[in-house]
Amino acid sequence: MTDLIAQKITEINAQIPADVRLIAITKQVSIEKMRAAYQAGIRDFGENRLQEALAKQQQLQDLSDITWHFIGHLQTNKAKKVLENFDWIHSVDSLKLAQVLNKISGELAIHPKVFLQVKVLPDPNKYGWQIEELLTDLSQLNQLENLNIQGLMTILPLGLSDLETLAAFKKTQELADQIKQENFAHLSMSQLSMGMSGDYLFAIQAGATMIRLGQIIFGERN
Ligand SMILES: *Cc1c(COP(=O)(O)O)cnc(C)c1O
Repeated sequence: MTDLIAQKITEINAQIPADVRLIAITKQVSIEKMRAAYQAGIRDFGENRLQEALAKQQQLQDLSDITWHFIGHLQTNKAKKVLENFDWIHSVDSLKLAQVLNKISGELAIHPKVFLQVKVLPDPNKYGWQIEELLTDLSQLNQLENLNIQGLMTILPLGLSDLETLAAFKKTQELADQIKQENFAHLSMSQLSMGMSGDYLFAIQAGATMIRLGQIIFGERN
């Protein structure tokens, strides 16, 4: 099992440019498998549920150079715990959440790195800004000076063709470019978090700087 995980990670690393960061998504993945991924060189881990993540962080305390990424929908009542225990938050999906994170970050005197989650295609099953809504909120987001906004994150709807997938990732990249050109002092658009097991090669073609891979490394989830 650990050999298979190491082999997968080696294969993926050979496919992706050296400056693309591979985040292992370990929701529902055992500690044993996470240790195997660490042994194979993974230092970025992503989780979508706070309780599960905190338990795993406890058990992996000896691996002190892990960078933790929060990737799930975040309720404001859990915001403080997430801020205290994660280095990156990929799933900032509303102005209200961003404002709460900003306020708590001020109290904690931290400047967390975050992504704004955007839906470039309509998807009733997903959280995130629609493009027009995001453009409207930019000037208010720009005022959240405790947040270190790094770029956009997207998750595509299921069932797209290859062409549609590539087009949707390119649209995300173009949106980031468009925002960059507005020269907001506080909105860096230097990172793009996009690409999962089924579509990461398209995401990289469209300029992803971080890919979030679970099942292709660890096998299918239940
Ligand atoms: C589960 C998850 C992933 C990884 O998906 P896989 O299909 O297992 O690669 C990536 N991003 C988010 C936000 C997820 O919830």
